[in-house]
Amino acid sequence: MSDSTTSTDAALRTPIVAVLGHVDHGKTSVLDKVRGSAVIEGEAGAITQHIGATAVPLDVISEIAGELVDPTDFDLPGLLFIDTPGHHSFATLRSRGGALADIAILVVDVNDGFQPQTEEAIEILKRSETPFIVAANKIDTVPGWNPTEDAPVQATYESQSDRVRGDLDEKLYEIIGQLSDRGFSADLYWRVQNFQNNVGVVPVSAMTGEGIPDLLTVMMGLSQRYMKEAMEIDVAGPGVGTVLEVKEEKGFGTTLDVVLYDGTVKEDDTIVVGGADSTIVTDVRALLKPRPLSEIRTESRFEDVDELKAAAGIKIAAPELDDAMSGAPMRVVRDREIDDVVSEVEAELADIAVDTEEQG
Ligand code: GDP
Repeated sequence: MSDSTTSTDAALRTPIVAVLGHVDHGKTSVLDKVRGSAVIEGEAGAITQHIGATAVPLDVISEIAGELVDPTDFDLPGLLFIDTPGHHSFATLRSRGGALADIAILVVDVNDGFQPQTEEAIEILKRSETPFIVAANKIDTVPGWNPTEDAPVQATYESQSDRVRGDLDEKLYEIIGQLSDRGFSADLYWRVQNFQNNVGVVPVSAMTGEGIPDLLTVMMGLSQRYMKEAMEIDVAGPGVGTVLEVKEEKGFGTTLDVVLYDGTVKEDDTIVVGGADSTIVTDVRALLKPRPLSEIRTESRFEDVDELKAAAGIKIAAPELDDAMSGAPMRVVRDREIDDVVSEVEAELADIAVDTEEQG
């Protein structure tokens, strides 16, 4: 296994994962289950809470996934899940040349199939060319389902009666058909050879944890095989990110919650941020991480850090952020001309505006 602590300038960053889907199909539950499993399986503190995101490291994934994952097959450090589910934020949270997330999980309720927000999510994924897998959720609701908590789905699928398996198959093939109607060739994930051309469907239950090991394994495998090059970054370089939220924070004024997908951001760095009326140039006053729960006393929920490397979720406190927009780009200037960086940010903003119009 690679040593993720060696610090050369070139590094493989963690792929950023977004969870999308129709309301009530189980986005929050799937995320909670992933986080919950990680807490149980991993050593204490093995998953790290970021601002707006949760990092699940490879060793925790391989513990959850058991025999499904051989950690020596991977050198990406794990997966960073964006905490705010929902495609509305996702639609605006896009950066030039791609999307905020590197990869997505589209959650579909097996009983409901495609619904309006599923359609919208599919459109966004298509337009942003974001690779995704489908989590066909709530398999435990098939009448007569015999659950095996947290089991890999193939084993639990085989252990159902013929009738139950038949009922589930019918629901799964409905979803596969709906994907194919929208131009995505799809199949149950264990039948998919090439995830670049086919969408893998993973039957899961966020309630019983069945299929969650598979979901993590497929995400990890997909990232490793098809995204490794895109994950090679110059970690020491000037940070690049996307604003998730603009928030008032007691003691700090207006702050930005940012997902950093490239480089490093440091205290005192000059940053350029997209604003509603004009581009903002300001200096980082504080970089804030969530304080571990065990350490929260009466003081701040946040912990000050000197610098942070991609991929990460971070809160940035700086003057003059009132006009900043969620979904806008954030770039660190470092040893470049401010004007050049301003132009880059303006170009990205123009792209976002065009996309929003197209969406109509
Ligand atoms: P979201 O709106 O997509 O984030 O959906 P939630 O995660 O809030 O889930 C909506 C409802 O479905 C909640 O009542 C969940 O408890 C329930 N739910 C989610 N996943 C499952 C599942 O796998 N099985 C069952 N039986 N219920 C589920």
